[in-house]
Amino acid sequence: MSLQKVSHRLIGGVADKADFKANIREFDPARGKFASTMCRRKCKYCFPLGCQKRFGKCTKVSYGSGLYEISCDLSVRGGCEQSTSWLYKKLTPNSIVQFPSSGDISLETVPTACDFIENVVKCNGTILLHSKMDSDVAKAMVKRLKLDGSHKSRLLFQITCTTLDNNLMEAIEVDAPSFFERISAMGILLRAGFTVNVSCTPCLSPDFEDLYHTIERYYNGTFSIGVTNMHPNALFSSIHGKGSHKEEIASGSRCGIWLRNYKSMFTSEWAKGAIDFYKRHDNVICERNIWKLAGVDEYELSRERTRDIVRDKIGGSNVCT
Ligand code: SF4
Repeated sequence: MSLQKVSHRLIGGVADKADFKANIREFDPARGKFASTMCRRKCKYCFPLGCQKRFGKCTKVSYGSGLYEISCDLSVRGGCEQSTSWLYKKLTPNSIVQFPSSGDISLETVPTACDFIENVVKCNGTILLHSKMDSDVAKAMVKRLKLDGSHKSRLLFQITCTTLDNNLMEAIEVDAPSFFERISAMGILLRAGFTVNVSCTPCLSPDFEDLYHTIERYYNGTFSIGVTNMHPNALFSSIHGKGSHKEEIASGSRCGIWLRNYKSMFTSEWAKGAIDFYKRHDNVICERNIWKLAGVDEYELSRERTRDIVRDKIGGSNVCT
């Protein structure tokens, strides 16, 4: 199989995986305008949330390298609709759209999200749908989406499952669905014939191997492992204010214990273990930051496998030719 013309996308971090990013923003009737992000959760590692806290906004940002965030609105048509039309025209059979990019799908936004997904896949684009989905949203999406086989294969769910420790998950991914809700959602999507991948990024506890095996009957795609894209100290402070890192540790909370132990848990030895695991399992992907943490210079090789896996999952050579 020739890899010469294989694209460089579905690899590493999010920016490497997608050509476009699209997001739903919720309209706030009380304020008469769109919220800067639709997400009602407060994950302590959230990059968009950090940007919002620090700079007051996080949407409509150009990411450089041809990546743009496009908003599609929930209840008001207008400029946003123009943006989505612009995107549909730009799509080629190779295009990957990460959706939603700085939020998550809620029950209220399922109809808009599904319309958007249908439009993208019918324009031959592929959707990489990152979510911490619960079973109600999964059921609503399955009910609403009307996709035939070839279009269905262009929708790749990527459900975030960061640890087997539900208490830790609750402490870090505040207001997000529980571990059990997420695997229920995965089961629903799987039974409906979708491709379900797992994103263990950021890995919250070092036990990714147990996690991989415990949930293996709930996904049929890849299992990707990564660490936080910022040191949790800096990230935590940027989201929660100066001093909050120390205060959280001093409080002895679950999150504080995690912050205190972060560096000793996620060492280069641990990252090397993740790479060994990757070498032993065909469907495991190590994100770019794992290779960096391990100090192992084989990232380029790992990309080839990722492209092959994704090509198989999408069901043809369109995406990675
Ligand atoms: S679900 Fe995603 S967008 Fe929402 S707070 Fe968590 S990390 Fe941020």
